Amino acid sequence: MKIVCPSCNYVGESAAIAKGSRKLEITLWCCFILPGMLYTMWRQSRDGQYQGCPQCREGKVRLISRKDWKTYERSGKLPTI
Ligand SMILES: [Zn+2]
Repeated sequence: MKIVCPSCNYVGESAAIAKGSRKLEITLWCCFILPGMLYTMWRQSRDGQYQGCPQCREGKVRLISRKDWKTYERSGKLPTI
């Protein structure tokens, strides 16, 4: 998926970013093995991820359609909405 990030003006391929935090994941693993395992599984599943900006992890990004991306590749500019 191609995206435009409103926070850092990144334009390009979106990344799958895991929800939640690694710190909590590690804490859960250290204290309680089972919840830690479930938490890791959730973060690796489809539900625990979102498509967002690979640079600043912004989730509210604008998706670029195939047509708009072609325009961007040709002219270096994105068509405004
Ligand atoms: Zn960004």
